[in-house]
Amino acid sequence: MENTKIHPNSCTRRNFVVASGLLVVGSVVGCEKQTALTKISKSRPPEIIRVRIAKKVTRVTIGGFDFVGKNNGDTPTTIEIKPKTTVIVNGKSKIITGRIVLHPIPKDADDSFDVIAHVPIEQYLPGVVAGELFAHWHFDTFAAQAVAARSYAIAQQIARKERSHFDVTDGPSSQMFLGDVTLDVAHRAVQETNGTVLQWNNEIIPAYYSACCGGLAASATDAISGAKQHEIPPLCGHSGKDFCTNVDTHAWTANRSARVLRKRLNACAKTLNLPELANIRSIRSIEPVSTNIHGRPTELAIYGRGSESCVVRTKDFIRAVNAPVKHLPLISERARSSFLIGQKHGSTLQIDGHGMGHGVGLCQYGAQALAGKGESWQNIISWYYPQVTICT
Ligand SMILES: [Zn+2]
Repeated sequence: MENTKIHPNSCTRRNFVVASGLLVVGSVVGCEKQTALTKISKSRPPEIIRVRIAKKVTRVTIGGFDFVGKNNGDTPTTIEIKPKTTVIVNGKSKIITGRIVLHPIPKDADDSFDVIAHVPIEQYLPGVVAGELFAHWHFDTFAAQAVAARSYAIAQQIARKERSHFDVTDGPSSQMFLGDVTLDVAHRAVQETNGTVLQWNNEIIPAYYSACCGGLAASATDAISGAKQHEIPPLCGHSGKDFCTNVDTHAWTANRSARVLRKRLNACAKTLNLPELANIRSIRSIEPVSTNIHGRPTELAIYGRGSESCVVRTKDFIRAVNAPVKHLPLISERARSSFLIGQKHGSTLQIDGHGMGHGVGLCQYGAQALAGKGESWQNIISWYYPQVTICT
């Protein structure tokens, strides 16, 4: 146990079944003084970010020791680790500084659990910005990204602290997290902006960002959700063209089988609560029918072979067009954003689009272009989050 010790307020080591270095996760072994995760999170200062680094797994290796679930225990297990401990799960390893919480999935027949890294936010952020940006990009791009990522993580934590056992995940649907990294520019960007967050009306905003907006900003209300907290100027997008128009991601084409795409959309009719989508029999074209104040499409019309058509919100369309559907072939060419049009050519539906990601807030490629022009990270932030207050 040189590399691993158990949190003193949670299970002590003797409460685990140990066999050949195998530690068992769960309440079945009768911890005398177990601490529920909710209690642990309440007692933590707010700057600890809870990152889910693996979902519903049955085994994880932490500091050389294997942990497995057993008998549906529902009490989280907290594991104190030394700084820079290697955590291996699903064949992927991360170096983590903080602590690890194994959160059993209640009543799961496989005795599986989520693996949550609890990481101090300033320790967490270098692993985010290094995962989100290319290592050779400008310092000010990294610094702007660090501020956006810090605000996003804290806003998520505030929103989720009472209702979830994690704040963020480590993938692109949340924000990337590589664990501890050695990239110098990532550390400098986090240190330079230490503690800096974005606020509106004295509240930290979820500072969404994406790879490339395609030239026109989306609003969080249109692209993320209709939550009240999204109806604020910093999340409604800037006016005018963005600076990302000279990069590879600005324009893209995906050629898809028109028949399979139609079936995919039909299959999503129920999930999206759009019965008319089930009636589309052949897709002739896909065209924008409404836009936001910046000109970016917010609704698309899908025109069928005859007179049938269906209007879909862009955020729903992108979900449907890339959705895995049983019995349908895997998607070879994904639509990279909802900023698109489509036209049928023979049996192929050619989708032409702009950008990559939802297009809300900071555009990473645009930020890099701005930094290349000598703009500071503060100016980059002010461009992408109109009227926001930068709080240090
Ligand atoms: Zn852009």
